[in-house]
Amino acid sequence: MTQKTLCPYCGVGCGLEVLPPAQPGKAVHRDSDGNPTWQVRGDRAHRSSKGMVCVKGATITESTEKNRLQYPLLRDSLSDSFRRVSWEEALDRIATEIKTVRLTHGSDGICMYGSGQLQTEDYYTAQKLLKGCLGTNNFDANSRLCMSSAVAGYMQSFGSDGPPCCYDDLEQTDCAFLIGTNTADCHPIVFNRLRKHHKRNRHVKMIVVDPRKTKTAEAADLHLAIKPGTDIDLLNGIAYLLMSWEKIETIFMDECTKDFSHYAEVIRHYPPALVARKCGITIDQLETAARYWANSERVLSLWSMGMNQSSEGTAKVRTLINLHLMTANIGKPGAGPFSLTGQPNAMGGREAGGLAHILPGYRMVKNPQHRATVEQAWHLPEGRINPNPGRDAWEMIRGLETGEVGLFWVAATNPAVSMPDIERTKKALLKSRFTVYQDAYYPTETAAYAHLVLPAAQWGEKTGIMTNSERVVTLCPAFRNPPGQAKADWEIFAEVGRRLGFTEQFSFTSSADVYQEFVELTRNRLCDMTGLSHERLQQEGAIQWPCPESETATVASGKRLYTDLRFPTNDGRAKFAAFHSNGLAEPEDENYPFVLTTGRLYGHWHTQTRTGHIPKITKMHPYPELEIHPRDAKNLGLEETKEEKWVEARSRRGKARFRVKITKAIAPGTIFIPMHWGALWADNAEANALTHPESCPISKQPELKACAVQLIPI
Ligand code: SF4
Repeated sequence: MTQKTLCPYCGVGCGLEVLPPAQPGKAVHRDSDGNPTWQVRGDRAHRSSKGMVCVKGATITESTEKNRLQYPLLRDSLSDSFRRVSWEEALDRIATEIKTVRLTHGSDGICMYGSGQLQTEDYYTAQKLLKGCLGTNNFDANSRLCMSSAVAGYMQSFGSDGPPCCYDDLEQTDCAFLIGTNTADCHPIVFNRLRKHHKRNRHVKMIVVDPRKTKTAEAADLHLAIKPGTDIDLLNGIAYLLMSWEKIETIFMDECTKDFSHYAEVIRHYPPALVARKCGITIDQLETAARYWANSERVLSLWSMGMNQSSEGTAKVRTLINLHLMTANIGKPGAGPFSLTGQPNAMGGREAGGLAHILPGYRMVKNPQHRATVEQAWHLPEGRINPNPGRDAWEMIRGLETGEVGLFWVAATNPAVSMPDIERTKKALLKSRFTVYQDAYYPTETAAYAHLVLPAAQWGEKTGIMTNSERVVTLCPAFRNPPGQAKADWEIFAEVGRRLGFTEQFSFTSSADVYQEFVELTRNRLCDMTGLSHERLQQEGAIQWPCPESETATVASGKRLYTDLRFPTNDGRAKFAAFHSNGLAEPEDENYPFVLTTGRLYGHWHTQTRTGHIPKITKMHPYPELEIHPRDAKNLGLEETKEEKWVEARSRRGKARFRVKITKAIAPGTIFIPMHWGALWADNAEANALTHPESCPISKQPELKACAVQLIPI
């Protein structure tokens, strides 16, 4: 029988239809090893993707049987070999370790590092266990490395998290402003929709801001190849021109926003000549960008890691939102600031409280009323939830270094590849007193640092919910059995909770039960989903939130937030914020003369635990290449010949070796390295051997996008 589900890779959230290997009258569908495997095609009825899929979604079932972890494995020290143990022994051991660490370190000695690959039910159960029952807010997710600056920007400017736009805006905009996003490679189906609209409508403009001439930039009317770290200068420079041309919406600003006057004072310091020089673009290019904004009724901004992964990520996001506020490009079709999430359920994680400073239903740890509501819902005593935010992702690594973290529990992510300053991260993991690693795949780079390894069911083997970038919620049903003894993540968390005595809190018998409890905590919040249930999503297909209980019929077109131009702040007004740029945390200098920027490739996904096993994708991207401009290559003595050329890239933290690709797509002085290769996939080609953990002080998101390096030809 055909199953409708969601692609488990990126935050675009494309609908899939999955068919069993054997279909009447057709040959059995097989993977590259000749084994029968499920077939996949795009779901034409899915509102977000309309039947489209990229290579990752189309090949997902190629990876699901390979390198699977099937049984719990335990060892007493990292120098021992693993031995297979029963679930009883594994879960008892976690419960014992938690009790021990609470005595020796306190509850804050326990940390869980999760993932946007988890389903909402997994996320929610983990929050209840950590933040509620154990009284520690030390739950963070790899979303911290991905989009926490967008979360902080939305919260501070609008009073709440939540992308205000929807994908229908891609086809209704007059001007798409893409900054810090290679959408064509990283969010391909979003880009397909935008590109079609752009091609069909000559008046529609596309501006791409990126130091690289990516596939996205090639499609643009205007490509601004700014110097890394000058985004705020550029955005303030555009604001300067809009102000001086009197192309601002004063009535909207007077009625719906506040704090414009301070912002206006700051942007006076960004005249075109200064901005063009700082950004490394021409005055004409800057004026063209401002003119496109000024002449468009509806401007839609898209961004992702190029903005978020920055030591001033929140300031960048808020500065971009300022442009939308001063031109009233919000709350109407085709307009608004739209962050594209990386992971398939990073949005669901935000809704379920899956970062160290938030609670379910878009609530804040620091808010006493919010804590009290959640404590009551969880039937826990008043004051159980810690009033202070927990450790963010990098703070967990620091806690391992100092010994303040006594139990580190990793679920569905691979920090031994994805964290910044990877050698320091690995050393910290070696110091861990006890690490639990819960994942579908084995071996992985992080499993090598675990004491206890737990096999998790994955996509297609457990039933749960995921929310994509445009707030569309899709049910992902189980349609095949997990291998060996693998269990759903939420079941593992609930079993540990029951072993610790929280039987009432973890009496769920299905993921549908978990979901029903979760949606109650969204009641009357911006992300109200009380009208949703597994049953309804099964019957009606994907539905966008807000979806309160009173809303019974599926809305056919996309919904936008803030269409009444009221915002969830105390006075209903959105807030301007004024920032001067600080630039990069580690700019280039005499000793380290190049700025390294990192990013994704079209076919691969994160640390390759799935895509590294799919021949079609590994053929597309067989090895990592370092992109360098011909002028810089020549200066290093790397001539453009057919011969293979290699360089060693060195930063203040480490080094790695790469094959060289000489290309004018990258600006002089900047180099690019893809982020997907960990120690299991290539020798000494880890991008994060070079990166640093300096983070945005507000969002705590590390600046994985840029650091200073030197290059040595080898
Ligand atoms: Fe999957 Fe993203 Fe590709 Fe859609 S665009 S098929 S969600 S990886």
